[in-house]
Amino acid sequence: MMMTLLGTVAACTAQPRVVAHRGYWRTEGSAQNSLASFVKADSIGAYASEMDVWLTADDGLVVNHDRVYRGTQIDMECDKERTIRNIVLPNGENIPTLEAYLRTVQKHPKTRLVLELKSLSDMRREDLAVKKIVRMIHKYGLENRTDYIAFSINACLAFRKEEPDARIFYLEGDLAPHRVKALGLTGIDYSKEVLRAHPEWVAEAHELGLEVNVWTVDSEEDMRYFTQLGVDYMTTNEPERLQRLLETM
Ligand code: MG
Repeated sequence: MMMTLLGTVAACTAQPRVVAHRGYWRTEGSAQNSLASFVKADSIGAYASEMDVWLTADDGLVVNHDRVYRGTQIDMECDKERTIRNIVLPNGENIPTLEAYLRTVQKHPKTRLVLELKSLSDMRREDLAVKKIVRMIHKYGLENRTDYIAFSINACLAFRKEEPDARIFYLEGDLAPHRVKALGLTGIDYSKEVLRAHPEWVAEAHELGLEVNVWTVDSEEDMRYFTQLGVDYMTTNEPERLQRLLETM
C-alpha cells in the first residue's frame, strides 16, 4: 500500500512544460522564427513557442535571432524593415514582421508565446521597442498568452513598467534569484550551463515564488537532469524528443 502511495506521488510530480526554441523548426517545411515554426509548435502541443524580436532602423519590429542575417550584410537594427523583409528563410518564407507573427499566434490559441526582445544598442531604443511590442500584443489580444524575456535588465524593467501584470523572465544568468525577485520579475530563464553551476538556484527561486526556465536543452541527459532538478519550463530545439521522454518519467 505504502509503495503504491509513493508511486502515485512520484507520478504526480510536476513535470517541466515544453517550450519550442525559436519555434519548432527542426521539421519539414519549417525554419527558425518563421510563421510555420509557431504553427508546427502548436501542432505538436508544445506549451509555448519562443521567438526573437528586433527594432529596425526605421522603428519596425521584425522576428529573427541573429543581428546580422547569415550570408548577408543585413543588420536587424541598422537596416530598414523593408530591406530585412526581403530576406528569404530556408523554408521559403520571408522574415516575418512582429505583426504578421502575432496574427499567426492569434489563430492558434492553444500555444503560449514567449517573446524575447534582443538587446539593442541603447536603452531608449529598448524602451521604444517595449512600448511598441506591448501595444501590438494588446492589439491582437495576446496579453494573457505572452511571456516576455530579455538579457537586458533595462528591457525587463521597461516591460514591467508598460505591463504591470506581465510575466517577465531575465535571461542573462548573472543574478541570484533573490536579486531577480527584488527587480519585480516573474522568474529566471537561465542557460543550462548557469543552472548546472548553480543547481541550488532552482529551489531558491521557488522558495521566493519565482518560476524557472532553462535553455537550450536538447540532449536526453540534460532533459532528465533538469526535470529531476524541478525546473518549471524547458526550452528546447527538440520539443518532440522532450515530450516523448517526459512520458516515460
Ligand atoms: Mg531567443
